[in-house]
Order: sequence, then structure tokens, then C-alpha cells
Amino acid sequence: MSELKTGFVWHELYMWHNTDGHTLFLPSGMSLEPYRHVENPDAKRRVKNLLDASGLSSQLELLVPRKASTVDLARAHTEQHVVDVKLKNEQGRRDAGALAPLGEGSYEIARLSAGGLLSALDAIHSGDIQNAYALVRPPGHHAEAALSMGFCIFNNGAVAARYAQSVLGYSKIAIIDWDVHHGNGTQAIFWDDPSVLTVSLHQDRCFPPDSGHTHENGEGPGLGYNLNVPLPSGSGRGAYLAALEQVAIPALERFQPDLIFVACGYDAGAFDPMARQMLSSEAFGQMTALIKDAAARLCGGRLLMYHEGGYHAETVPYFALRVIEELAGIQTGVEDPFLMAAEALGGQGLQPHQSEMIDQAAMNLEAIGS
Ligand code: ZN
Repeated sequence: MSELKTGFVWHELYMWHNTDGHTLFLPSGMSLEPYRHVENPDAKRRVKNLLDASGLSSQLELLVPRKASTVDLARAHTEQHVVDVKLKNEQGRRDAGALAPLGEGSYEIARLSAGGLLSALDAIHSGDIQNAYALVRPPGHHAEAALSMGFCIFNNGAVAARYAQSVLGYSKIAIIDWDVHHGNGTQAIFWDDPSVLTVSLHQDRCFPPDSGHTHENGEGPGLGYNLNVPLPSGSGRGAYLAALEQVAIPALERFQPDLIFVACGYDAGAFDPMARQMLSSEAFGQMTALIKDAAARLCGGRLLMYHEGGYHAETVPYFALRVIEELAGIQTGVEDPFLMAAEALGGQGLQPHQSEMIDQAAMNLEAIGS
């Protein structure tokens, strides 16, 4: 049997989503020199650059993204929301909702971002590739059915999960979200739906504020199919691996998904300006290995990872390189110059107060599949 490649979704237009001119957290009426929006192309473009320079991208199956149609988007969003975003963009409005910057053409680029995941799913479904990584922008996991939020215009992962079910015929989708912020949009969209398991590992009460508690478990038929693991700030490799080993992986085992998604943010990285966690490239690689193994055991290796946040342009490329190396089973030999600095941070091992939070999250596992 020939070894199938890992698919890779990329489009130059992802970098053209223009958030410049939007300032974050700038109190109105104050005089402060304008600065770049934190969700700018730098980190992601540098991921692409490192993948190219390392020779890894030439060993991946390059997938050309298509634009998600209104029908595709409206499986996860209200049709009104899709129309509203288009209209706001045409009118030159600068925000699609709540902290979700719009630049010229952003509506179309957001469709291309969600569509990138659909192209990846098509390739996985056809058996042309073993798994895929979608380096898309803008990100998606904060966007709710009727609200763009937190740099996210449309919920790429949710649109893809619905597409996998409605068009490709998969029944059960599991979404593991390790972006440092709570995957509130994904949680809300599948809140009462037991066919999509959502598990979010995030920094406790980082963003959105007061969101992502362990007791948020879904409702109605979806009760039990949403899990949150809020990790205290200062969590490192030990806490994240324990959260995966003790909550996310057992949740997958109980759920028996047909497809696994990873909402792959890198803002739990040690030097990220938007959060206070301590992951290194090696930690991201180990986390990927755990999920890849679970996918091999549970769903024929069908795994789609897609880029969410991650704002430290120097380190994010090394994190993503390790993740994609692991996903593809290819070592480039490129060394991460920031690895030692991240690993040397005190408290990388699992701490008692982190363990307590993980134990609390694990108590919600029993409802899955029962
Ligand atoms: Zn994030």
C-alpha cells in the first residue's frame, strides 16, 4: 500500500484579509499612536515561508481552496448572517460583528477560508490523502450562527462539520479545539447536537470572558457532547498533554467519531501576546501525535487540522512546522531556535491546581455515548 500524503490548503488571498486600520482595545477618545492589529498576516505567512524553506511543503499535496457557497455557510450560520456580512463588507463597515475586522474583500476571503476546509474534506473523503492541514485565514472558532466575533467571520470548522455530514455522509464528527481561547462559537452551534462532539482546551477565562466552564455541557439531545477543559494561566506541556490524555482522547474513544477535526491555534505558545500559556514546538508535536494516533485507531486516520489563532510571528512557524511534520510523518531536521527558551520555563510539568481542573473536566466524560 502506497503511503498517502498529507493535504495542505493555502491561498495567497488568505494573507490579503486586511485588518489594518482596526485597533484592538483602544479606548475611544484617547490619543494613542495607531498600531497593527494583532490578527495580521505575519505569523501565518511566516508559517508558509518556513514550510517552503524547509522543503516540507513540496512533500505535501497542495490543495486549492474553493469558496464556500451561501448554502455551505448557511448549514452552520443563519442565512441572514451570511447576507449581513456581505452587506456590511460592501458598505465598507469595518467590523462584521464583535471584534471581527472587515477589510476590502474580506467577505470573499472568509468564504475562501471556510471553503479551504471543504476542499480538504473532499480530498480526505476521496482517499487521495491521509489527512490534511488547512492554513486558512481568517480564523473561525469564535463565530456563532448569527454573530461574527473575535477575529472570526464565519465558523470554518462548523461549516466543514456540517458539510461532512450533509454532503459527504459522515455521521459523527469530533472537534478538538486547542486554540488558547474558548471555542465558544463551535460550542454554541452544536450546543443541542449529539452528532458533533466539541472539546475545547483553553486558558481559563481568557476570551470570551467568563466562557468555557466545565459545566457548559450542551443541552437537550446534545447534553454531554460539549466538553470544556479550562486550564489555568501558566499551563505548559504537562497540563496540555494531561488534558488530552485524560479528557479529549477518552472523549474520542467513547464517541467513536467518523472524522476528527483539530481547531489548531498556536496562541497557547510560550511567547504569545494574547494569552499566558507555555507550549513549545515539541509540545505541539506531541499533542498532534496523540490525536493522529486516536484518528488511526478510531476513524481510519481521517483527520483535518485547521489553523485558528497564534500571534507571535517568530515562534508560530516552528510550532506549525512541528505539527505538520507530525501529521505528515516527515522530519525536516529544522531546529526550533526558541525550543530551549520555552522548555526552560518553570512549571512545564503538570501542577496540582491544573490537575484539579482536568479531573473536574473528566467527570463530564460519562455522558458521552451512554
Ligand atoms: Zn485564540
